[in-house]
Amino acid sequence: MALTLDSCVQYLKGIGPRRAEVLAKAGISSLEDILYHFPRRYEDRSHLVSIASLELGKEATVCAEIVSLNARRGFHRGVDILEVGVADDTGRIFCVWFNQPFLRRYFKIGERVILFGRAELYRDRIQMASPEFEIVGDEAAESLDINRIVPVYSLPQGISQKVFRKVAKAVLDHHILRLTEVLPFDIRNRHSLGNIVKSLINIHFPQNDAARLDAYNRLSFEEFFLYQIPLILRKLKRREKKGISFKIDDTLLLAFIKTLPFSLTDSQRKVLEEIKADMRAPFCMQRLLQGDVGSGKTIVAAIAALLAASCGYQAAFMAPTEILAQQHYEKLKAQLSTFSPSSMDHRPWTNIKPGLLTSSLKDKERQSLLRDIKDGKVNIVIGTHALIQEGVDFNKLGLIVVDEQHKFGVSQRALLSKKSVNPDCLIMTATPIPRTLSMTLYGDLDVSVISELPKGRKKIETKAFSLEEKEEAYEFVRTQVKFGRQAFVVCPLIEENPKLEISSAKAIYKEFSQKIFKDLKVGLIHGRLKRDEQEDVMVKFRQGELDILVATTILEVGIDVPNATVMLIEHAERFGLSQLHQMRGRIGRGEHASFCLLLAQPNTEDAQARIKVFVEESDGFKIAEEDLKIRGPGEFFGERQSGLTELKIADPLKQFHLLKSAREEATKLLNADPKLQARPNTEIKKQLYKRFPEFEKFMMVG
Ligand code: ADP
Ligand code: MG
Repeated sequence: MALTLDSCVQYLKGIGPRRAEVLAKAGISSLEDILYHFPRRYEDRSHLVSIASLELGKEATVCAEIVSLNARRGFHRGVDILEVGVADDTGRIFCVWFNQPFLRRYFKIGERVILFGRAELYRDRIQMASPEFEIVGDEAAESLDINRIVPVYSLPQGISQKVFRKVAKAVLDHHILRLTEVLPFDIRNRHSLGNIVKSLINIHFPQNDAARLDAYNRLSFEEFFLYQIPLILRKLKRREKKGISFKIDDTLLLAFIKTLPFSLTDSQRKVLEEIKADMRAPFCMQRLLQGDVGSGKTIVAAIAALLAASCGYQAAFMAPTEILAQQHYEKLKAQLSTFSPSSMDHRPWTNIKPGLLTSSLKDKERQSLLRDIKDGKVNIVIGTHALIQEGVDFNKLGLIVVDEQHKFGVSQRALLSKKSVNPDCLIMTATPIPRTLSMTLYGDLDVSVISELPKGRKKIETKAFSLEEKEEAYEFVRTQVKFGRQAFVVCPLIEENPKLEISSAKAIYKEFSQKIFKDLKVGLIHGRLKRDEQEDVMVKFRQGELDILVATTILEVGIDVPNATVMLIEHAERFGLSQLHQMRGRIGRGEHASFCLLLAQPNTEDAQARIKVFVEESDGFKIAEEDLKIRGPGEFFGERQSGLTELKIADPLKQFHLLKSAREEATKLLNADPKLQARPNTEIKKQLYKRFPEFEKFMMVG
């Protein structure tokens, strides 16, 4: 039977049905999948190190003969220890593995083995703990495994490096010419990218590092390119899809802006223009509004909501927590109350009625609010995820605002847009997303950025205290309160957890209110309080009846109390960098100097790095970039990360220039041929259908 690239791996020599099943579970089913299963790393076995020249503490690859085997149970806690002595002409070392007794059967005295690991001194002998290994047998000349740069793959249990290498080589040797090139020639030419055949050969079995790098760039470009196409198409199609054309009255808008207690920053004005243009346009807006914490996103979104309402539509404003929804609601009501357009022509503005919908409304209030929403009497609905529940029917929903979008899942957002036909969408985030990633993750959205803070904001002074300096930090809080200011104290936990030696919000509250700050007014807020209790505490704090508010990360988002100038963070080492930055954003909002104090005991390198960056840096975008570097994109993003893990080889952080060029080329190509119908582009389409099954549906629907 003639194999094609789509054939099942089972028909390859050395695989068979059992191994094929194992590979299939790891996502490798066809010959083509083998080609696209790239090495995780490489080992330069063209320069093997002799045992005598191993350097302590450094990773290296040696090839040696097995000279002793010893499996025993350790004295302590019954650990199984497997100890393998290996030697070459220059010396001898030991390799040890713990609790993996089954490894024993891989080793035979007299056989040669390749070892990759870190040599360490242990009780005056040199040892490698749990090195990676590969038996080479006695034919030292095995051409794929030795004397060259050797690929090392991530493989499921039961498939050895040797087997996979052999199979990869076989597919490269016998089947690769059937592969069709996806990247058009002129694009490859413009960016000096090699052809696909050469690139795949060099990614698996590079002759040298330069060849590997070329292949890496070429394959990354292809991946970015293919990944961007659906995003760009979605964006193009959206602009064709009919949405609402809001008839916005500018004079009225200007009159409203004049009543604000501040003037908008240039950045806010610019962003507002972008939003207005989208709202007026006949297509449906999908705009991501980015801005550092405190940059004033809320007022921009509130204005957008007012505009929608004044045009006879409803706006839904979704916030991640009840206290935040409450705060937005109060503020909007206050802002509206100072604005009463005089002339009768301005009736739409006087008919604006906001409503607050959260899950803890009493049944009767809820029913009546739901009726008003359905009748269109309430035309700006602010709420939590309660907004997307069943039973919430809008009369004429025209605009959706999602605040702090990173707190919501993609699916929750989608549910809200189902409440109406093609409403405009404004999505806000205060986790500034480095441009590298926003292009990968939000390539289908339009993006607006508020790039400056309101004038007169003072830099927040940030200082880290060790546990021994705790008193000093507390004393500082006291001084600020004496000056009439207020303080937030954030703890990582609500209640004591016997397993963790961490003070909880409840414990700190007790200690503060009964001992340390006995003479001051201390409050406590966390997510397990009932909503009216939360509200009660927030109102008291806002009105200055409390000096110190002990809280959990419930404070992280949105809370705005300008007189609060101190943020004390307990166990700061337990928070992520972006999260710390969000919390710090709660202060520095008024006329007074503000201070962020960290009580931290950073035990790991990561934690130390985070604290250092946080103390030194105040720009949210820079902090996000550092955070990404420290944590990697997987942890940085929760749900949306799925998109990132789909990338097999390309890395948007390290290869931003490639990502940019790939996106530019993809845009150009799609502008000319949006249906991917032209002759060479059909290959792109085929490849995309293979990679993203949902993309085919998308193209069919048209
Ligand atoms: P975020 O972007 O973090 O959501 P907010 O919208 O909560 O920030 O705004 C932070 C604070 O700044 C609020 O008290 C808000 O009223 C105030 N504010 C917004 N815009 C301006 C401005 N142009 N000048 C002065 N203060 C402003
Ligand atoms: Mg906000």
